[in-house]
Amino acid sequence: MQLLIFGPPGAGKGTQAVRIAQAMEIPHVSTGDLFRANMRDGTELGKKAQEYVTGGELVPNEIVIAMALDRIGQADCQKGFLLDGFPRDVEQAEQLEKWLLERGKNITAVLSVELDDETIIQRIISRRVCRSCGATYNVSAQPPKVENVCDQCGGPVVQRPDDQREVIENRLSVYKKQTAPVEEFYRKRGVLKTISGDGDMDSVFGRIQEVLSDFERS
Ligand code: AMP
Repeated sequence: MQLLIFGPPGAGKGTQAVRIAQAMEIPHVSTGDLFRANMRDGTELGKKAQEYVTGGELVPNEIVIAMALDRIGQADCQKGFLLDGFPRDVEQAEQLEKWLLERGKNITAVLSVELDDETIIQRIISRRVCRSCGATYNVSAQPPKVENVCDQCGGPVVQRPDDQREVIENRLSVYKKQTAPVEEFYRKRGVLKTISGDGDMDSVFGRIQEVLSDFERS
């Protein structure tokens, strides 16, 4: 199974990606994680990507496409993979398609986790994190026992600067602009599956499993 996953920030895509990869026993290939690992290890690739990743810009295609194709060409991806964060534009999608076709493969399914903007914004603006240990809270659903004090380490519980409404609205509009043409690319090929990101993580995962079992049966 060659799978892709899309989802706006705050829709729970990251958690779902980890669970899908475990359930399907395929590697979870996140291009963002690959860049961060290379930057941490100080590799040539990491150095090339650094200025783009830290500035929130897209890394140029000649770098990202080579890295992604090299990763999915490795032995552990032979029986499938779940790509997360790639492709992010139509050129990346075309190059991926060409690479797969040359190997007699194609994309099995593209899972697009959807959630309306207002629900996403509410989820993110209620999020709080502990500045010391990183534990996460939600002011309405799961607040710390003592206001603004971490249950686990006693550290200060704060709102991340990028979790403000205006910043989230901007991240959502950038996401839509980027993803829309790529979704259209896969819709035309009949492999795009939209999944509601509403409800808790288990309900969303249940919907994803239904979609995937349809593919396994066919
Ligand atoms: P992510 O963790 O997916 O949000 O990715 C973090 C950063 O890595 C992005 O802001 C980009 O700088 C870079 N990146 C990850 N995937 C891609 C991609 N497919 N194309 C270009 N840049 C990417």
